[in-house]
Amino acid sequence: MFQHVETAPPDAILGLNEAFRNDPNPEKINLSVGVYKDEQGVTPVLKCVKEAEKRLLEGESTKSYLPIDGRAGYNSAVRKLMFGADHEVITSNRAVTVQSPGGTGALRVAGDFIADSFPGASVWLSQPTWPNHPNIFTAAGLGLKTYPYFNKATNGLDFEGMLGALQGAAKGDVVLLHGCCHNPTGIDPTPQQWKAIADLIQEKELLPLLDFAYQGFGDGLSEDAIGLREIARPGQEMLICSSFSKNFGLYNERVGALTAVATCEAEATAVLSQLKKVIRSNYSNPPTHGAAVVETVLTDDSLRATWEDELTHMRDRINGIRKLFVDKISACGIDQDFSFIQQQKGMFSFSGLNQMQVDQLRSEMSIYIVGSGRINVAGISEANVDRLCEGIKKVTS
Ligand code: PMP
Repeated sequence: MFQHVETAPPDAILGLNEAFRNDPNPEKINLSVGVYKDEQGVTPVLKCVKEAEKRLLEGESTKSYLPIDGRAGYNSAVRKLMFGADHEVITSNRAVTVQSPGGTGALRVAGDFIADSFPGASVWLSQPTWPNHPNIFTAAGLGLKTYPYFNKATNGLDFEGMLGALQGAAKGDVVLLHGCCHNPTGIDPTPQQWKAIADLIQEKELLPLLDFAYQGFGDGLSEDAIGLREIARPGQEMLICSSFSKNFGLYNERVGALTAVATCEAEATAVLSQLKKVIRSNYSNPPTHGAAVVETVLTDDSLRATWEDELTHMRDRINGIRKLFVDKISACGIDQDFSFIQQQKGMFSFSGLNQMQVDQLRSEMSIYIVGSGRINVAGISEANVDRLCEGIKKVTS
């Protein structure tokens, strides 16, 4: 029966991680997969998470199923974190949230919901985008279109190209935007540019889908929500996919959420019923642990303060490393200008290295970078930055 089944290619990014694990070179450097690392190269469990887990372990009285849409307290805390407790979207009750297994789960539930409820709509993805986006929406049976995002000449946002392409979107098409810390480029729109994007969405009657996987990794918790809050104008509908993999370090607990903002409470309730239908046939109901941790931390003043400190520390380290890398690379006499890396936000940067240079770094130096040249900045440390710069000098000269 399985004779005709061909071997599928390994996932481009996770496959690289496997190759890194098997590499015996003690000086190997992994800048591929998107996981935060501290100065020692460790992906830590946050203190606030450990404390919440202690409390949960003591208080747990059942392992019975969660509702299809997950924990109500978690869903409400997620909405407030994104919008702020007093935002009109919250006070008008026109938003509903379902807990999901990671941001990926939220994106897939969104994809299935769009395919069911908006037949014929295309999903517009930035070029480039996180490589799993096309996989997810294609699997959901949706048609894809792309809009330009990266301007190679300036290493910045191709804003005119982006707006120009989106002018061609049809009413009811879905526009996927990265809420902050764009993956893979690290380039985000300015507040003024977000305003123009929100205007265009409103004028052309598009459905914005925000992928919000890095809140707090760019400039701060509310600063990183500027785009999302700009788009959430009175009456505007939108979908938001949250992930707490990065900002809580809960990667393997699979904790995320999908929020749908409708025009009114009655419509939001109808959307919720459709999201539950999608979830029921996918995984029935979500796992509890990760969401219980996030809910506990977000709703307890002291744990929340600890979390915000820990998040600030992660953000400051990433920004410090960006500066260190730019200083070191310019000091080692490379012609190429890498100063743009300091302006980019979040864990990722587009280094400008091409596929050949990336391959050479891997085969000759055991430095692992994704083929597009995307670097996980958090993989750089005081201990490996000199070797990394040496490698980049070698392959670029
Ligand atoms: N969206 C983007 C842009 C991401 O980078 C990621 C994680 N790499 C996700 C969604 C999915 O996150 P999760 O691990 O929570 O599924």
